[in-house]
Amino acid sequence: MTLAHISGYPRIGANRELKRAVEAYWQGDLDRQALEAEGRELRARHWQAQREAGLDLVTVGDFAFYDQVLNVSTLLGAVPPRFAAEEEVARGDVDLDTTFRMARGRAPSGESAAACEMTKYFDTNYHYLVPELREGQAFQLASTRLFDEVKEARDAGYPVKVVLTGPLTWLWLGKVRSEEGQGGDRAGGFDRLSLLESILPVYGEVLTRLARLGVEWVQLDEPALVQDLPREWKQAFEAGYNVLRSSPVKLLVASYFGGLGDNLRLAVNLPVDGLHIDVVRAPEQLASVIDNLPGYKVLSVGAIDGRNVWRADLAALRERLASARMRLGERLWLAPSCSLLHVPVDLAAETGPGSKLDPELTSWLAFARQKLDETVTLARLLDNRATDEDRARLEDATRALDARRASPRIHKAAVAERLARATKADTARASAYGERAQAQRRALDLPLFPTTTIGSFPQTTEIRAARRAYKAGELSRDDYDARMREEIADAVVRQEALGLDMLVHGEAERNDMVEYFGEQLDGFVFTRNGWVQSYGSRCVKPPVIVGDVTRRAAMTVRWSEHAQSLTDRPMKGMLTGPVTMLQWSFVRDDQPRSATCRQIALALRDEVADLEAAGIPAIQIDEPALREGLPLRRAEWQPYLGWAVECFQLTAAVAGDATQVHTHMCYSEFNDIIDAIAALDADVITIETSRSDMELLDAFRNFAYPNEIGPGVYDIHSPNIPDVAWMVRLMEKAAERIPAERLWVNPDCGLKTRGWAEVEPALSNMVEAARQLRQQY
Ligand code: GLN
Ligand code: ZN
Repeated sequence: MTLAHISGYPRIGANRELKRAVEAYWQGDLDRQALEAEGRELRARHWQAQREAGLDLVTVGDFAFYDQVLNVSTLLGAVPPRFAAEEEVARGDVDLDTTFRMARGRAPSGESAAACEMTKYFDTNYHYLVPELREGQAFQLASTRLFDEVKEARDAGYPVKVVLTGPLTWLWLGKVRSEEGQGGDRAGGFDRLSLLESILPVYGEVLTRLARLGVEWVQLDEPALVQDLPREWKQAFEAGYNVLRSSPVKLLVASYFGGLGDNLRLAVNLPVDGLHIDVVRAPEQLASVIDNLPGYKVLSVGAIDGRNVWRADLAALRERLASARMRLGERLWLAPSCSLLHVPVDLAAETGPGSKLDPELTSWLAFARQKLDETVTLARLLDNRATDEDRARLEDATRALDARRASPRIHKAAVAERLARATKADTARASAYGERAQAQRRALDLPLFPTTTIGSFPQTTEIRAARRAYKAGELSRDDYDARMREEIADAVVRQEALGLDMLVHGEAERNDMVEYFGEQLDGFVFTRNGWVQSYGSRCVKPPVIVGDVTRRAAMTVRWSEHAQSLTDRPMKGMLTGPVTMLQWSFVRDDQPRSATCRQIALALRDEVADLEAAGIPAIQIDEPALREGLPLRRAEWQPYLGWAVECFQLTAAVAGDATQVHTHMCYSEFNDIIDAIAALDADVITIETSRSDMELLDAFRNFAYPNEIGPGVYDIHSPNIPDVAWMVRLMEKAAERIPAERLWVNPDCGLKTRGWAEVEPALSNMVEAARQLRQQY
């Protein structure tokens, strides 16, 4: 019998109950007991869903009030001293508020302290709390939560499998923090791998306690196995699991988000009882893993897509997995490719009155709850023990997917034709940067050290209220438009008064930089309740790209045109780039990501042309997600960057020489992709640099980056007003690296999360800094 299980279930709840409870607790509107009760309730509901669907094991350990990696950190006693006294850790029961302080810096009890760093989990949009590591750090079992949850599940009568981040991946995700409190890998030349020895005994203790609670299987998540591992890390995997092999539970090592590649032999030979692999991202590895798998091991095949929302092709999967079933027999387990944390909870919320998706669309999709059913049905199909319900599910899926493949909503001949016609020439501006720069200088007449902002201005409560009223039908479209035009006019007046050189319209009309464009492009659809956890209590509702992308009409022109009509200063149009649109959406699985991205690029290209025709002299194409789209394996970087850069160019290159193309990226590591950044050939790139003391510009200097750069001179994440001398000093440092004629002065990122009371004095100081710089240079 093929055993069906999952690596994890979304914990937010079908109606984001967890978000509400946690936020109410932080606010002081819900007490601890009630919060804990809500957690128990959600766990119970999610286990019940797994059992009802027919999974053989329910998964415990995937629940967290904030983050599952953080939970492992507290389990291991890896609590930096600024959050908890030694006694609290020594007591073996770190308080929930301590966990919240680690995550957010503050909690209803305890003293505030700088929160731990947060970053994206592998190539997902889920953020985890980075384990903080120190030389000589001690570890000890310091939380009982996991065991309590196991007891809950056992008391409810469920067969339990526990899931935990494995020791190597936990360390891999960690960062060394030096004594001065400065994070980063620069700290102290100490190798975090040296901590493994002290961590393993704690894992050992955890496993022993789980065995005592009657747990037979523990899944240790080791997605680090799908990345390029240095030799010492490969050896550490072997050594580490050699230590854990003596534990009294069975271990399933789980890889996901990609193929094992050169770690395949290492992974199949680890001294454990089972291995989980992702055959959605890496279907080709199935046969070779089976060829190499020791005869005593279980293979959990991740065949249902845990990263995307499409309904599984059960018939095709049954065929593809038939030989695995034959070769492995009872040793085959079946699961989604990774935790279902990365998909919305339940498609049931997308049907019925008020739903945003029609029945045809929903018939093409599967969310977490539906993926449980798919997993179970597929297991039973492979075993030849399908029920009538399974057979009906199989037929439904086949019918829906046939319809999807043939649907005119998916394939539009005009899009394919246009893509086929696009040539290399469409990706190059008419002239080289040098010539363009001259044309732009004539057209724009900007001073040295021109000042600008990144696009958005404060999204005030009035703006949000107006949008809500408009969406609820309480405000007419005309009235809403009029309100937004007033906001734009207000932003223009303020910018002129501040003395900024290149203005923006302020993005008042945008709720979200992807949603705003997605709503106006055919091929994108939106769900009503398709929330996915992003970090802590924060959830996002990514659009779904279902079909060929086309632009119905101009999307931003009327706003930019209005803004430009109010001022003699140059106005910068504002677009979200194709790679970011792709990266922050659920994408089609029936064509390569690159093809979808090219379609978006062509649609945006028309917007660039229209903005230019409307007299907008500069156009910014934001690509904050370009870097996070990098594949997990180095060898795949170049192909990705190749098409990503090409898509940006395809969007931008329609602009005439005198139109200044800007781009913006708000991450801070350019060294290893600087050639791709240069290949974008944007006339101006604005980047986040203020917190790095301009050291990030070294990458640009070393590469002899030829175009203009606006290194952010102040951190918009902080409410502090930056002072003039500080910004002047930063720009002097910038000018040591980049010629002054090619430098811009701007904040690190958009200002939509700030208030005008902070924005105005900050920008006023920034403009003064530029004025002083002009006298100096
Ligand atoms: N133009 C966008 C803004 O200013 C850019 C946001 C971003 O970089 N994430 O808000
Ligand atoms: Zn930014």
